[in-house]
Amino acid sequence: MNGPEIHLTFAPELHVFVPAWRRGGPTAVATDGSSTLGHVVESLGVPLTEAGQLLVDGRPVATSHIPAAGESVEVRAVVRPQHVPGAPLRFLLDVHLGTLARRMRLLGVDAAYESEDIGDAALAALSAKEQRVMLSRDRGLLRRREIWAGAYIYSDRTEDQLRDVLERFAPVLAPWTRCTACNGPLGAADKDSVEDRLEQGTQRTYDVFAQCTACGRVYWRGAHHARLAAIVDEAMREFGGAAA
Ligand SMILES: [Zn+2]
Repeated sequence: MNGPEIHLTFAPELHVFVPAWRRGGPTAVATDGSSTLGHVVESLGVPLTEAGQLLVDGRPVATSHIPAAGESVEVRAVVRPQHVPGAPLRFLLDVHLGTLARRMRLLGVDAAYESEDIGDAALAALSAKEQRVMLSRDRGLLRRREIWAGAYIYSDRTEDQLRDVLERFAPVLAPWTRCTACNGPLGAADKDSVEDRLEQGTQRTYDVFAQCTACGRVYWRGAHHARLAAIVDEAMREFGGAAA
């Protein structure tokens, strides 16, 4: 690009997306005189899902703003907690975020997840069709115009990913109400009616407490329960009252 030169300043939260030499202070960018500010920001590496307010010489503008020579642009981070207008808050996770999806479901958060790689176009279409917030570490996916809403997942550690999503979107938490395997709602189950689905040792030792109404999976307080309960307790302590 070889047109009007503008100066951009990125919020510290966005520095992860831009090269080191563009961090810190204002950085000069030559635009083409016809691209939108949203496009310019994206072309510098920042997904628009992560950009909050855009200020030109101190006044808010839309992503459709066409920058003019000499403008000073401030790119802020999204405000947390982030309100997603429209449908009830629900999510769609890409193929790399299976562990995060199961953690979110454990807390009762609606988290659809494709265990097979259906491709960016299909994921984006699904996000739009079901009005789900697309979660991904793939910036290319988040740039797709079709997605309903999206968020970049900053960490590659599940614990940090979960905390990030809960802090950012403040979803209502309802632990032990959703199937971690398929995202379906759990219903009450009694031992007699699910007997044939249990191993003998399980029958003797554990109390069944729920069954998935979608896939039929049975939940009981077994070997993994203490570990899962610890995850639930920690999340509820920190985020359980956030959306009340
Ligand atoms: Zn299920």
